[in-house]
Amino acid sequence: MASTASSLEDGISSSPGMGYLRESSLESQLETLSLLPLKTEEDGEERIHAASGSGSNTPPLTSTVSTASSSSTRCSSGSGIILGNSGQSKKSVLDMLHNNVVSMDNGKAANAHYINTHPEVRAALQDFLSAVLLEKPEDVYAFARIHFSQRGKVPKDKLLRPLVICGPSGVGKGTLMNMLFEEFGGYFGFSVSHTTRAPRPGEVHGVHYNFTSKKVMAEAIDEGRFLEFAEVHTNLYGTSLEAVRKVQRAGKVCVLDIDVQGVMKIKQTDVNPHLVFVAPPSVEQLEARLRGRATESAEAIETRLSAARAEIEYGTAEGHFEHVVVNDELENAYAELKATLIGYYPHLATTTVEEEEGARERRKR
Ligand code: ADP
Ligand code: 5GP
Repeated sequence: MASTASSLEDGISSSPGMGYLRESSLESQLETLSLLPLKTEEDGEERIHAASGSGSNTPPLTSTVSTASSSSTRCSSGSGIILGNSGQSKKSVLDMLHNNVVSMDNGKAANAHYINTHPEVRAALQDFLSAVLLEKPEDVYAFARIHFSQRGKVPKDKLLRPLVICGPSGVGKGTLMNMLFEEFGGYFGFSVSHTTRAPRPGEVHGVHYNFTSKKVMAEAIDEGRFLEFAEVHTNLYGTSLEAVRKVQRAGKVCVLDIDVQGVMKIKQTDVNPHLVFVAPPSVEQLEARLRGRATESAEAIETRLSAARAEIEYGTAEGHFEHVVVNDELENAYAELKATLIGYYPHLATTTVEEEEGARERRKR
């Protein structure tokens, strides 16, 4: 029995169930089956082989072949059951087995056809694996629930164009984005970048950034998991395609807060974002804001300031961005940003006066 089972199983890695039976060998296989020391129903079922072996993509047999009385010996092949013993018509069993094989082959063909005509099955699985390897979540099932709940059949051309908000550190990008999210929360989603810098007080992993190590990030870069990445102020920062698509698939505008190097790179992809640069009224005011925020050491502030001049030069040069907002008076800058974004995303204009006032009230508190 053991050797028979294993010889049967030899053929089931790609076609479990009865698919291993070739038409030409049906009769001999049937003889073999009838000689097998099958257990009676009371003894429990003797498993010829599993109908759904690991790696199987063939469904178990669904038809039941029965030519014998209820007291007959029984063998099970998945959910296909062959009842047979003395006095029964081998011919009809053979015919029925044959039908099973044919339906199995049809089943396999149907599976292959389905997979071939639904490339999104492979894409979704690859996408999921990619996301898992990037995030390495502790709770894979929880991650899977979120991952797949954000997926839908959104054709690429229906995804909303992302929005890049770029500007030197301390210019007020985060502040403006918070205002935007407060007023238009449902319409925007933030692309959560990966970074090797340490979290600031209050920053939450997975919300503000995916905080990671240089080693992990370098591996992910090697594996091509980032749309763009750059070394900014001595740390690595990067945007994964996954981070962007996650927001887009939820039907939202994905907001990317990336530096000018990232902007140059993302322009070369097919992500096709709108590009807004936020400039400070002056470098002196930028410095005052950075120092006032008090989140960086004196040395880190110097690093950020020395990068700022080149960033402002690139950002305000003709043709590099679609729009430049000078963040002088915050409310004015926000109003200008909002008007610009309504131009890019007209559906934002449907926000009611009440929603707008509610957001203003919340900001005052
Ligand atoms: P970024 O995200 O660009 O690094 P933040 O949004 O963190 O910058 O802003 C840096 C600091 O500047 C914060 O303390 C913020 O409250 C302050 N700030 C932002 N916009 C203005 C503005 N228009 N006038 C004065 N201070 C501002
Ligand atoms: P911070 O450390 O202040 O959060 O960000 C520092 C700089 O890194 C900012 O200019 C910000 O725009 C940039 N940055 C944040 N995330 C990314 C990213 O994913 N890619 C790139 N290229 N820059 C980023």
